[in-house]
Amino acid sequence: MKKLSILALICLSFIAGQAQVSVDRVEPPFWWVGMKEPVVQVMVHGKNIGKTNVSVKATGVKIVKTQSPNADYVFIDLKIARNTKPLTVVFDFKDEGKTITTWNYELKARENGSARRKSFSTADNFYLIMPDRFANGDPSNDDMPGMLEKANRNDPNGRHGGDIKGITDHLDYLQKLGITALWCTPLLENNMPAYSYHGYAITDLYKIDPRFGTNENYRDMVAEAHRKGIKVVMDMVFNHFGTEHWMMKNLPQKDWINQWPEFTRSNYRAAVVTDPYASEYDLKRMSNGWFDKTMADFNQKNAFVANYLIQNSIWWVEYAGLDGIRQDTYPYADKDFMAMWMKRLREEYPDFRVVGEAWLNTPAQLCYWMDNTSNKDGYRSRLTNVFDFPLAFAVQKAFSEEEGFDTGLRRLYDLLTMDVVYADPSDMVIFGDNHDIERMYQVQKTGENMKMAIAFLCTTRGIPLIYYGTEALSDRGSLEGDAGKRKDFPGGWQGDKTNMFTGENLSQDQQEIYRYIKVLLNWRKGNKAVQEGKLTHFIPENGIYVYFRTLLNQSVMVILNNNKESVKVNTERYNEMLDGYKKGVDAVTGATIKKLDKIDIDGKSARIIELSK
Ligand code: CA
Repeated sequence: MKKLSILALICLSFIAGQAQVSVDRVEPPFWWVGMKEPVVQVMVHGKNIGKTNVSVKATGVKIVKTQSPNADYVFIDLKIARNTKPLTVVFDFKDEGKTITTWNYELKARENGSARRKSFSTADNFYLIMPDRFANGDPSNDDMPGMLEKANRNDPNGRHGGDIKGITDHLDYLQKLGITALWCTPLLENNMPAYSYHGYAITDLYKIDPRFGTNENYRDMVAEAHRKGIKVVMDMVFNHFGTEHWMMKNLPQKDWINQWPEFTRSNYRAAVVTDPYASEYDLKRMSNGWFDKTMADFNQKNAFVANYLIQNSIWWVEYAGLDGIRQDTYPYADKDFMAMWMKRLREEYPDFRVVGEAWLNTPAQLCYWMDNTSNKDGYRSRLTNVFDFPLAFAVQKAFSEEEGFDTGLRRLYDLLTMDVVYADPSDMVIFGDNHDIERMYQVQKTGENMKMAIAFLCTTRGIPLIYYGTEALSDRGSLEGDAGKRKDFPGGWQGDKTNMFTGENLSQDQQEIYRYIKVLLNWRKGNKAVQEGKLTHFIPENGIYVYFRTLLNQSVMVILNNNKESVKVNTERYNEMLDGYKKGVDAVTGATIKKLDKIDIDGKSARIIELSK
């Protein structure tokens, strides 16, 4: 029946002497009335659609411009008047005055308060999940028709079956752990033949990968997270997309992507972008080189691409109810476009925040990307938050090496002295590991070092991030490369012997670190001084690092002891911060500290003390 009608349609087209016309894709798939920016640029893709004339008849909605850079695409600039009621607009595609085809385009109502949504802040505790590796809530979606890669849990670089249901089912686990903001590595379709689990080669920017679930499942997960007091930060990738993306078969324009005579890789030297001595050659390789053979490089200088990406981000914020965005490979995309994107995004959502992955190893290189930095070239990124890679690498070394003039705890101290370059260092998202760098436990080696690292991340300036599995003391075991950083979460799969969700078969060390993280994150949720207070620190001496977080009459004292031996700390040196305080409470044990002149601390440990008068 269906075959017959398609055949009939082709015959009709032929009889009428017209070229075959179809509508195969419309993006964004729908939009909203009442947006701050009144124009949405709708991309329609289909055979010969660019050869038609498109019109709409609707109150409050008009086409201000149509552009067809390619016979199979038309970009429709649709202007929606203020106060237009939600409606479905009918695109009427005509040829020689006759309607060839139509498309119903929905303009929905926005949620109340959508524009004034709150974003993440220094009060939040982040958790990073790699969804394929967290929990398999629905084994029936592990393999899906039309998807090139099948699940194979025996392949460390294959798909293991984790999904959105697995995350949604365990939001209560995250809530109990003290998590208030969730970042998942990309969940959008990655229909690539291999390595599709990591999610960074997106093949459809408007669709959740069916092996993770549906768009509705994602939206429901966000809503459920909100009910549990957890914000959701979506991972977006504006630099590149998967070469199996449908668009790659017929790009709207040749310069939709950065093209090279032969495959040319980025030099992965993000510092080139801010280097005052950089050559044009290196700059071009950095920005326009491809991230990988399987990842085509978007040309954000193309105005259609720019609009496409900006609208895509706004679509997800509005559709899913997002609280923030994590933007991948920040310095690899065109920096002027990125600043324009941030501006557009924050015009639409004034309180919205984005944390950028600007992977640079020194504060001098990283600060360029944070908004309000006085950059010599006048560049203003408008990026609200960045990941603190320099601090992460210091955290990875500080607790497991010998104390020296610039090693051990002095690494942390030295790095923080460089905060002078940042407009607001408290806007750094701080971490000890993530999906791209070595696992914390792999480098910290002992439960004691892990605890010290966690204590530091929960009390120094910035927004702490815990990478899934940290609380299970995950290490790489015998696995090489990325696979060793991205192991399955214990308890996420049926039959797992160790189960973090139920607590079954956890080792003594796992129980200890889980409890420690849980206590500290939950304590941090309620302590304003540690969230927003001023940081004052003292040069580490003899393996002891002492710092304070103070806000009005609230003060927290932190002592890190990197010595193997316990120490009785004489606090005379810290009197300027202790003045007026008489006692304290240990944030981890709840024990009272009756006198502050001498404080006992065990070897290789941290003490976090809430001071009182
Ligand atoms: Ca699954």
